[in-house]
Amino acid sequence: MAEERKKIDLEPYGANTTKRLTIKEAEEILFVPFPVLDHGFVRLIDYMGSDERVVQAARVSYGRGTKKVSEDAGLIRFLKRHEHTTPSEKPHTEWHIKTPLFVAREWYRHRTAQYASFNEYSLRYSEPEEDYYVPSHDFIGFQDSSNRQGRIKINVPEELKDFTRNEIIENSEQSLKRYKALIEINIAREIARDVLPVNFYTTFYWTMDLHNMFHFLQLRMAPNALEEFRAYAGTVGNIVKKIFPVSYQAFEDFVLNAEKFSRLELKVIKHMFAGENPENIYERAGLRGRELREFKGKLEKIMALEMVS
Ligand SMILES: Cc1cc2nc3c(=O)[nH]c(=O)nc-3n(C[C@H](O)[C@H](O)[C@H](O)COP(=O)(O)OP(=O)(O)OC[C@H]3O[C@@H](n4cnc5c(N)ncnc54)[C@H](O)[C@@H]3O)c2cc1C
Repeated sequence: MAEERKKIDLEPYGANTTKRLTIKEAEEILFVPFPVLDHGFVRLIDYMGSDERVVQAARVSYGRGTKKVSEDAGLIRFLKRHEHTTPSEKPHTEWHIKTPLFVAREWYRHRTAQYASFNEYSLRYSEPEEDYYVPSHDFIGFQDSSNRQGRIKINVPEELKDFTRNEIIENSEQSLKRYKALIEINIAREIARDVLPVNFYTTFYWTMDLHNMFHFLQLRMAPNALEEFRAYAGTVGNIVKKIFPVSYQAFEDFVLNAEKFSRLELKVIKHMFAGENPENIYERAGLRGRELREFKGKLEKIMALEMVS
């Protein structure tokens, strides 16, 4: 069983020699699990390509030539700014991931994972890992009344957090007990699993190209993404940053930490440059409701930036 498990978990293959391009930073962390939440992890199990490969793909018409590193970085940044995306589809990464079922379900919505390439641990074939997710105190919040997909973590009494955690633990233990009881009387695993709640962990392999990885990270690192998913996306993002530093920097500069402005917002900004108080312009510019709230959010983000020294 241990041997079988080892095969599934893809232990390092040993000292291989290769003619393929390798990245020192990736080799160092290959197969190393990075913990996420209480029992989850993310680990890189394979990769292909690098920042250099993006450049090579973009310059295919001229050959690699004698371009300097700074020019390569400039090219990657140009590609990102102008959404010339195919060169960044060349590098790929493959991952072994352990998440609660409710995170995996959202993860699978990213169809561009290499031709929707997921392989998940089968609860028809095998019994579940007995790990379930219990949110830590700092993840627990009240229902957000304006963002229906959100939680508000202000003023939640500690005893309510304890109560919530205990409810989740009790429910999970009960479910596990029921599952085992059904297995005991030889009910099929694919039926018995129906008693398991969505906080049970699952594992899967996931293959993603770099372009769609950035799209995934943009959506799942965003403040409005599910907090548990953000924890995973942040961990994946840190690894991607290590192994594709130039591409990641371009992603941070032009996507992650950048803002888009609508036509109406640009009108308001024009008046702001002329020294007018934006509060006097919103109505005239036709900016109201949710769009106005979102614009104010963008302004707050700008105001929070440090001044250039
Ligand atoms: C904060 C948040 C809240 C969400 N809430 C909900 C929800 O309440 N309910 C729900 O069902 N989902 C929800 N989702 C999931 C969301 O609708 C997307 O399914 C998910 O984020 C994957 O994004 P994507 O389609 O852009 O990514 P991918 O599937 O990786 O696709 C990337 C891009 O490729 C293109 N593409 C891929 N496949 C096709 C296709 N078949 N046809 C045309 N273009 C294609 C699109 O341009 C797409 O943006 C939510 C996502 C987020 C981030």
